[in-house]
Amino acid sequence: MPVKNRFAELQDEITLWRRDLHEHPEILFETHRTAQVVAEKLKEFGCDEIVTGIGRTGVVGVIKGRETGSGKVIGLRADMDALPILEATGLDYASKTPGAMHACGHDGHTAMLLGAAKYLSETRNFDGTVVVIFQPAEEGGGGGREMCEDGMMERWNIQEVYGMHNWPGHAVGEFAIRPGAFFAATDQFDIVFEGRGGHAAKPHETVDSTVMASQAVLALQTIASRNADPVDQIVVSVTSFETSSNAYNVIPQSVHLKGTVRTMSAEMRSLAEERIQAICDGIAATFGGTADVTYHKGYPVMVNSEEQTEFAADVAKSVSGQCEEAPLVMGGEDFAFMLEERPGAYILVGNGDTAMVHHPEYNFNDEAIPAGCSWWAEIAEQRMPIG
Ligand SMILES: [Zn+2]
Ligand SMILES: [Zn+2]
Repeated sequence: MPVKNRFAELQDEITLWRRDLHEHPEILFETHRTAQVVAEKLKEFGCDEIVTGIGRTGVVGVIKGRETGSGKVIGLRADMDALPILEATGLDYASKTPGAMHACGHDGHTAMLLGAAKYLSETRNFDGTVVVIFQPAEEGGGGGREMCEDGMMERWNIQEVYGMHNWPGHAVGEFAIRPGAFFAATDQFDIVFEGRGGHAAKPHETVDSTVMASQAVLALQTIASRNADPVDQIVVSVTSFETSSNAYNVIPQSVHLKGTVRTMSAEMRSLAEERIQAICDGIAATFGGTADVTYHKGYPVMVNSEEQTEFAADVAKSVSGQCEEAPLVMGGEDFAFMLEERPGAYILVGNGDTAMVHHPEYNFNDEAIPAGCSWWAEIAEQRMPIG
């Protein structure tokens, strides 16, 4: 079974929606116009219920099937937010807001889920209820978490959730997925080494914070190389080294390190947190200073449920005739919070040979629309078949 004919017919219209969203990118929770466009379209399609303001600027639409006796409720989720990047695509529908850009393809995700919502509202060829979920602030703001905290899953009795992301470098419209841990937990840390500043020509009268921080930058690498089991994935990167003085002749009183930790399991995540603290305390004690470590937990590991992943892969095969095993991704994904609350699966759809997501020349590939929309629609129809 190839892509649905209806989406081949709707592709031009959905492309126009996508390009309109592309021209008007909004960052984090500021997705006011986008949410308004989404809500208006859902209303036009004849959704049974539309609620805005879930998770601040999130939108939820409810589409009841021709039958609902199965009692099944499936959530289909897209993200709506853009990135703080100056667009360099030169497209005639490029961002009209300098410094904001749909560089992760969330314009495409929103347009594709709208396309599926239009089709599902027209046909209602399923026994159960579809809840379409449009979330803000995927790019670091935790919009998915806020929608969950607003009680979305309970309010609509959502039983399973599905998500999709475009993927540059994969053939257009081809799918890839993996069961279990898929996207990494993304944490951040701040470390302040406090010593005793002083004259650079009298180091013996100081406690040199730059020496402590430098030792720490190297020692933190041993969490991955010496503490973690080599078969487990972990990244510890120090990304900022800021001294309290930048003079040539002053030993700074303190150094502020910043960085990120990426892990694929709760065990690795705890290991990183514990070891960062122990290493920094040890270094501070060795050199006579102090270390103040703050570990900020970001998105958890995104884990695909076994059964739903198998189903999602079968649906992908029915749409495009293939579904590869996806590699692990050390980036984070806010959909992790929804998958913590409900079983479900997250799939990648090929964007063709384009710039990578988050690059100023990236653009969502409109040729992926029929495959993406078909996957959404088939998830609903095959998971909640009539009769
Ligand atoms: Zn992104
Ligand atoms: Zn994204």
